[in-house]
Amino acid sequence: MENKKILCPMCKKHMAIILKEKAKTIIKDEEVEFNEKVYFCSTLGENDEDAYFIPPKVMNENLLNAKNAYRKMKGLLTSYEIISFREQFGLSQVELSKLLGWGEVTITRYETKAIQDSTYDNELRLIIDNPLIMLKTLEKNKKAFETERYNVIRSKIIDIIQAENNAFIKRQNLANYYVIYSEPSIENGNTILNIEKLEQVINYFAFKINGLYKVLLMKLLWYSDALSFKNRNIAITGLVYMHKPMGALPIGHTDIINLPGINVEEENSDKFEHTIYNILPNDKSDFSIISKEEIAILDQVINKFKGFTGATIAEYMHQEYAYTHTISNEIITFAYAKEIKDF
Ligand SMILES: [Zn+2]
Repeated sequence: MENKKILCPMCKKHMAIILKEKAKTIIKDEEVEFNEKVYFCSTLGENDEDAYFIPPKVMNENLLNAKNAYRKMKGLLTSYEIISFREQFGLSQVELSKLLGWGEVTITRYETKAIQDSTYDNELRLIIDNPLIMLKTLEKNKKAFETERYNVIRSKIIDIIQAENNAFIKRQNLANYYVIYSEPSIENGNTILNIEKLEQVINYFAFKINGLYKVLLMKLLWYSDALSFKNRNIAITGLVYMHKPMGALPIGHTDIINLPGINVEEENSDKFEHTIYNILPNDKSDFSIISKEEIAILDQVINKFKGFTGATIAEYMHQEYAYTHTISNEIITFAYAKEIKDF
């Protein structure tokens, strides 16, 4: 943050202290609550009114925060969402305005001061949500661009359309197996498969465990879902598991390894004569989709099996009631999760 190496603007005797306080303001006749940044001087002390100070630059930032809080309240895109979308395509503010067929300064105004009305918000959201519509909109406003620049932007959009198609197909391959598990049941642990959450759960394991190979991962997934079901009557991912020689294995495991939101490195092993999948940390990680309660369960599983390999965890799982009371290729119902060995 910007307060790292700044001296207190009032006394210059200590590092700047920035407080974040809940504040309220009125925007378009509505009360908005937002985070306000305030400099605080500890030399003057909290009983001195002059100890609190907002420089003009920070005042602008606070105002932008208030406007973004209003936007969130109204379901409008925030200035940060607009900026991040624009930067994803390497567009300048003027270019994005032109692409939409708007006045050249429109996007600059929305990113810095004005709040867009819902018509403009809808138009922007259409192209953010759907790169095909973005491509059509660009083509419609082609004359606003130099040919060379137009071609660069166009191919960038096409790249994203193709990447999204590939990602969609890869997720769909896994989803297809789960069409028959579209209701909460004892087979899916009362949870409908959530592929995006599954990806992030895998990323979380990869982030915490060095040497996360496929067999180990599959067992960690089962233990997480089973422990979650044991404690809360609900699994985390919605995967359905089968009894296999190496323990519980989720249906569609090959397509799990192919999911676009995870980072997998294939290693060819001479020893095993087949491909080994090493799951690595991912810069697309976003754990916000996993609840705190679920993170606590994942951590419990990670702590329990820290240092285990695919082989040792499979061996451990072979002792589970869920394994000894099912036969080969049978679905391991979550009813057995209640019997898992102590953590
Ligand atoms: Zn000070």
